[in-house]
Amino acid sequence: MTLETRLTFCRICEATCGLEVDVENNRVAAIRPDPKHVVSKGYACVKGTRWGDTQHSPDRVLHPLKRVGDRFVEISWDQAIDEIAAKLRSLIDRYGPKVLAHFVGSAGGAIVLSPMVRVALYQAIGTRRMYGTGTCDTMNKFRVNDEMYGAAMRLMYPDVDRTHFMLVLGANPAVSGNTLYHLPRSQERFAAITKRGGRVVFLNPRRIETAASGEHVFIRPDTDVFFLAAFLNETIQHGHVDRERVEKYMVGFERLAKSVEAWTPERQERVTGVPAATLRELVRAHSEASSSAAGAALSMATGVNQGRSGSPCFWLLESINAVSGNLDRQGGTLLGSGLIDMGEAMKELALTYDREDGLPTVSGIQPSGMLADDILGDPNRPDDPKRIRAMIVEASNPLLACSNPDGRLDRAFESLELLVTIDLFRNEVGSLAHYVLPAQTWMERPEIPYALQSFAGACATPYITYADPVLEAPPDVRPEWWIYLRLADALGVTLFGSRLTSAAAKLYAHLRYSAVGRFLPGPEKLFDGMFKKARLPGIAEMREKHPHGLLLPENRGGNFLGTDRVLTPNKKVDLAPAPIVAAFEETAERFYADELANRERLKLIGMRQIKRMNTASSNSAALVRESTNFAYLSPQDAAKIGVANGETVEVESTHGRIRIPVRVSDEMMPRTVAIPQCWGHAKAEGLSHAAKHPGVNSNLLAGDGPEHIEALSGMSHLSGILIDVRRATSSGA
Ligand code: SF4
Repeated sequence: MTLETRLTFCRICEATCGLEVDVENNRVAAIRPDPKHVVSKGYACVKGTRWGDTQHSPDRVLHPLKRVGDRFVEISWDQAIDEIAAKLRSLIDRYGPKVLAHFVGSAGGAIVLSPMVRVALYQAIGTRRMYGTGTCDTMNKFRVNDEMYGAAMRLMYPDVDRTHFMLVLGANPAVSGNTLYHLPRSQERFAAITKRGGRVVFLNPRRIETAASGEHVFIRPDTDVFFLAAFLNETIQHGHVDRERVEKYMVGFERLAKSVEAWTPERQERVTGVPAATLRELVRAHSEASSSAAGAALSMATGVNQGRSGSPCFWLLESINAVSGNLDRQGGTLLGSGLIDMGEAMKELALTYDREDGLPTVSGIQPSGMLADDILGDPNRPDDPKRIRAMIVEASNPLLACSNPDGRLDRAFESLELLVTIDLFRNEVGSLAHYVLPAQTWMERPEIPYALQSFAGACATPYITYADPVLEAPPDVRPEWWIYLRLADALGVTLFGSRLTSAAAKLYAHLRYSAVGRFLPGPEKLFDGMFKKARLPGIAEMREKHPHGLLLPENRGGNFLGTDRVLTPNKKVDLAPAPIVAAFEETAERFYADELANRERLKLIGMRQIKRMNTASSNSAALVRESTNFAYLSPQDAAKIGVANGETVEVESTHGRIRIPVRVSDEMMPRTVAIPQCWGHAKAEGLSHAAKHPGVNSNLLAGDGPEHIEALSGMSHLSGILIDVRRATSSGA
């Protein structure tokens, strides 16, 4: 077969960069950035361009596997589906449907179709025990959107390409590819703000890579809530409020103002380390840009989300955007439009309190920090009927991604009576599984970009694209939606609330991989229907005329406030949602006292690396060359501890202890230690490269259970953890 170049877009992270892929004999020969892609314009990072190594890894699972004793043996799909369904049925008959839970990782978020069938399957079975990495990185934003705008998926994004002032907290988009809105070429686009006479300022306990495109200010980990409260208070006290907009489109301003009135620049300085004068100067610059034609925007991401006050932080940040007149205007923050109204469509999934411990389920996702408790149940009742005993894990490695104090989550997963993983590899969770089901890679399936982009329009440059499969999938791997349909059929449950639709879907799944399957339309037919319903070109036209993506009309703003798109009961933005105000007022003084008491102690934060995307790239020889991750600390802290580059330290929290080599870096704020998360492949039986480059799992230092979960959103406390660090002795003590 001759070499052929095919176009696609990367689905490793939310930047979804356009790619050109050279294919020969159904193998990737080379991957390059697509210079003609309408948004990424020739940018792609090494994770995308070196994907071929993962795609063709000899470790990839290519057939359903069943654990027999301590071995895994290949079985047929019929056997796998029948046995899994039979075991599930017997557990459900004995304990009820809530015996089954699900866990999905961030890689599952890049698949548009499977969540629809997955949710339908679990609804049909009658269990809402859905968990995911969403409560490790973003769920606080959905909770706040729900309260302020009436729907979790009312997701504003900063108008990066027009703004003249941007303040970014806890994010490093140049390395991570950004989160919750589409922003490929982020470094270049942030740098452009400065070039056109504006400012972009990054607040972060580490001088992150993205800060090279603007200014950087250190902030003590997990103190952002005090900075934001003081920023908002200062904005209000100095009259930088767009009163007309506030009165017309918002409610709760007086309550909001009252809740932050105690937070002065000087007060926040004592715990954040951000000088009061710096905060005042930033407020002035923000206000100048806000009152100009250009606009200003604040944004925040994972580093703040993972703290103890993720929801209050996002509420304060969105309130600053709103009261300063920047919400719903160009240069400020905007609400996009997608193929569907995702806010309306997912309103039902927004927020429930169906857990006995009072923790929330946000956007259908339960707190991952409760997973070990929910699996292990009441230790005094071995037959506890409320325990999770069966679990399907899709595209994830929760043992590394979630809080796992001293390996407690490992012990919980080991106790499951049925564990099924759907993944490309047999990772650590897969090694504990009873069945491992092989999934397709993103190069093997037709796709449109992430739901938040395609459905909710969270794109700094509005666009749409479609990609055919670049490679033919190996004959015995299957898409997730197919697996869920087959399980539904074997369990005898009715999907989508309709016997007819359910029967048709199940029949389709049976035929799809039979001799007549190639005559059936594929998932692209569904995308075609969605595109046409949204008055966009169909898939055939996208292939022919827009292979590099299609730019959509620019978002001019003014399409949210005062419209039916505000989904609160009174159609106004709620600046003072009672649960968030109460949580902020209840915790702020307490956390402030904690911060004062612990000012001299070290705090742990996470850190992104350009060659790793969570645990997904850890088995790539083309990306992972170092045998371990490191603990990064400042020269001042290294001197105090008496440790030099490459030497090993012992890091201890109240939840666990790890040993890890250090890197001394002046990028670090003193009294802060950064450890890249999602390393620690000590038990990676099915990941031969990762097993030789295991690194250390820093989430062993994080706590689980209600006291380590943000009560508004179910987010785990994974950043800003108090630690002690000492030079390790050779004995390991
Ligand atoms: S930035 Fe993200 S989407 Fe772009 S190539 Fe890298 S991993 Fe892929």
